[in-house]
Amino acid sequence: MENLKTKIRDITDFPKPGINFKDITPLVQDPKTLRTCVEKLIGPYKNTQITAVAGMEARGFIFGSLVAWELGVGFIPLRKPGKLPYDVQKVDYDLEYGQASLEAHIDAVNPGDNILLIDDVLATGGTAKASCELIEMLGGNIVACAFVMELGFLNGRQQLVDYPVHTLLTY
Ligand code: 5GP
Repeated sequence: MENLKTKIRDITDFPKPGINFKDITPLVQDPKTLRTCVEKLIGPYKNTQITAVAGMEARGFIFGSLVAWELGVGFIPLRKPGKLPYDVQKVDYDLEYGQASLEAHIDAVNPGDNILLIDDVLATGGTAKASCELIEMLGGNIVACAFVMELGFLNGRQQLVDYPVHTLLTY
C-alpha cells in the first residue's frame, strides 16, 4: 500500500490557500498502481451480492467505473447539478463553507439494488453521506462505501457510522 502513496502528490494551496490537496492523477496514470487500487477496492466485495456501483463526480467516476467493470455490474453516476439530461432526484448538503448538491436520474437505481459507493477521497464525509442519502431516496441499499484514501484528521467516518467504510490509505 505504501507503493500507492508514492503515486499520490500533495499540492499545497489548492483549490484555495491552506488546503493540501491529494492529487491522484499520477496513481491513475500508472497501470500497475491503478490495477492494484481497483483490486484492493474490490477485495471485500468479490463474492457479495453487489448489484451496482455508484460514484461521485468526478474522480469517483474513474475508480467507480473500473470497480463496476470488474464486478460485472452497472455504474450509477452521481453528478453535480444541471449535468444530467433526464428527470433527477437531488440532495443538498453542507460544505465547510457553503452548500453543494448532487443529482442522480430518477430511474438510476433498480428497487432493492445493493450498491457499493466509490470515491477517491473521504475528507469531511459530507459528499459521501449525501450520496448515501441520494441512493436511499431512490430505493437502493448501501452495502458499503469504499475510498482510495481517507483524511483521518477530518473524521469523515463519523458521518458514515450507519455504513461499512473501507479505505486503502489513511493520511
Ligand atoms: P468531503 O465531502 O468528504 O469533505 O470531500 C470529499 C470529496 O471532495 C470527494 O468527492 C473528493 O473527490 C473531494 N476531495 C476533497 N479533498 C480532496 C483531496 O485532497 N484530493 C482529492 N483528489 N479529492 C478531494
